[in-house]
Amino acid sequence: MDTEIAGRITGDAYVCAMGSYVVDVLNPIGVKLPVYPVKGHSVTIQVADDRFAPQSTIMDEAHKVAITRLGDRIRVAGQAEIAGYSNRLGPHATDTVKHLIGDLFPRGGDLSRAEGWTGLRPMTPDGTSVLGPTQYDNLFVNTGHGTLGWTMACGSSRAVADVVLGKTHEISLDGLTAARYVR
Ligand SMILES: Cc1cc2nc3c(=O)[nH]c(=O)nc-3n(C[C@H](O)[C@H](O)[C@H](O)COP(=O)(O)OP(=O)(O)OC[C@H]3O[C@@H](n4cnc5c(N)ncnc54)[C@H](O)[C@@H]3O)c2cc1C
Repeated sequence: MDTEIAGRITGDAYVCAMGSYVVDVLNPIGVKLPVYPVKGHSVTIQVADDRFAPQSTIMDEAHKVAITRLGDRIRVAGQAEIAGYSNRLGPHATDTVKHLIGDLFPRGGDLSRAEGWTGLRPMTPDGTSVLGPTQYDNLFVNTGHGTLGWTMACGSSRAVADVVLGKTHEISLDGLTAARYVR
């Protein structure tokens, strides 16, 4: 990752929302969160013939992938690989998903121009996010969203913002804070 250092920026409160990278930043100051990077892949292809393309989302439970229609494109996403923080997108990573879409919708999409993507899901052992306070009064976290980070982004941010501002939060944080990992 390229990081441009813009100088020291201070604030009244800090929210660490760096997905699985929170560990590197918070571990040295004693905030120990079990958030692990679990790599997933997606392949996006142009619809070749609408009559033979999926019209809505389908789950393939055998291969653990979701096939989604996005306008004139098809996206196949899934898989879980424990590969540290590597974002490398090797050919093997997308071969399975390409094979799958070719198998299920052989005339639906144009596999010759498939675009691959890879990302790291910030997973926790108990499967739920880590939100809100830490042992430091001015440090908060918003991470551990696993497979549902985009879905939960607005709700989690709202809940954490309410905690930072000392407001009553609409979403209960019971069982969602870092306190559950403190022995
Ligand atoms: C194939 C795939 C499909 C998915 N599909 C869905 C889906 O359909 N719906 C859904 O809800 N979720 C989906 N997800 C999950 C979603 O991608 C994650 O839950 C989400 O990206 C987590 O967001 P995040 O911002 O917490 O972490 P990340 O997306 O990992 O972002 C962390 C950011 O922190 C930055 N960073 C790291 N270190 C530092 C530092 N020291 N200083 C500053 N910045 C730093 C990184 O550069 C990065 O931009 C999918 C994931 C994958 C892999």
